[in-house]
Amino acid sequence: MEKKDIKSLTLAELTEEMKALGEPAFRARQIYEWMHKKMAGDYEEMSNISKALKQKLKENFEYTSLKAVRVQESKIDETKKFLFALSDGNVIESVFMKYKFGNSVCISSQVGCRMGCKFCASTLDGVERNLLPSEMLDQIYSIARITGEKISRVVVMGSGEPLDNYDNLLKFITLLTDENGINMGQRNLTVSTCGIVPNILRLAEEKLSINLAISLHASNNEKRKELMPIANKYEIHEVLDACRTYFDKTGRQLTFEYSLVSGVNDTEEDARELSELLKGINAVVNLIPVNPIKERTFRPTDRAGALAFKNKLEKNRINVTIRREMGRDIDGACGQLRRRHLEEDS
Ligand code: SAH
Repeated sequence: MEKKDIKSLTLAELTEEMKALGEPAFRARQIYEWMHKKMAGDYEEMSNISKALKQKLKENFEYTSLKAVRVQESKIDETKKFLFALSDGNVIESVFMKYKFGNSVCISSQVGCRMGCKFCASTLDGVERNLLPSEMLDQIYSIARITGEKISRVVVMGSGEPLDNYDNLLKFITLLTDENGINMGQRNLTVSTCGIVPNILRLAEEKLSINLAISLHASNNEKRKELMPIANKYEIHEVLDACRTYFDKTGRQLTFEYSLVSGVNDTEEDARELSELLKGINAVVNLIPVNPIKERTFRPTDRAGALAFKNKLEKNRINVTIRREMGRDIDGACGQLRRRHLEEDS
């Protein structure tokens, strides 16, 4: 039988497990605190747990942990990019970003991705597997330990499509925001999706107050299809309807991510059409010049072009920001560092 993943259990589930092993309930709380408050790297660190119980835990449960195989630090903005090895040898990336209002960690939700967005490095080889709830938490815990910094925000915007790993994502959110663990506020968590409509609607029903970001990248379905294969499955209007529902149910303002690709989606007409499309939706558009990857020929819109696009949206009363590009000098875009590592290894 496969061992259970101890760090993906809620406190209630762990308490049941301890009972089954003939241990008192307070042990579950102690172990849970070691995992989710003190962010222990393994059972050995749990100093108030007896040797005998540690042995029992080892026999019955898997304890996931990450090994940092590469850390790159930006000279421009202190962004740190981590390449972590999972227990099965797969590698994933996570990013630590320093902002004036606190530190953010960007985590991956899958090894690779199967969504196929044309400008994205994470998806070039498809998806390898889903990450477990514990493996999503581990990215945050490891970074907190390595940097010694407090993490106040988490964005699920690394490699992978979080809504393609729905159940594990939900469990991760439960654990991350649990008051018995690191107790992050739901409002400090953002999940980014390419727009899997049924799961946006499901998420809207979960009674969460997390932030939702939608990768839009185009102002009509034809153009969106050129960049994002998921647009063949869900029409842009269906995505926007799901967003309206999400707002109605949760009251949370949405973010639309829009990567500006020179000559593809950055014309004045695109800005006009986008304004029309988003009229009446409580949202902010996040513009980011596309980060070029060597496997594709897409070029970013230049600074003047991005500003012109922003002005056009603002004239049409759309809330818009140009995202600060963090860590551009360290393979900042999704999946680039992992790819480079895999290429160098092969
Ligand atoms: N699968 C999710 C989350 C991961 S991608 C999603 O699609 O939202 C996080 C964001 O980075 C998405 O908006 C994605 O479209 C964008 N992105 C990926 N590669 C990029 C690149 N090379 N340049 C700019 N943005 C990119």
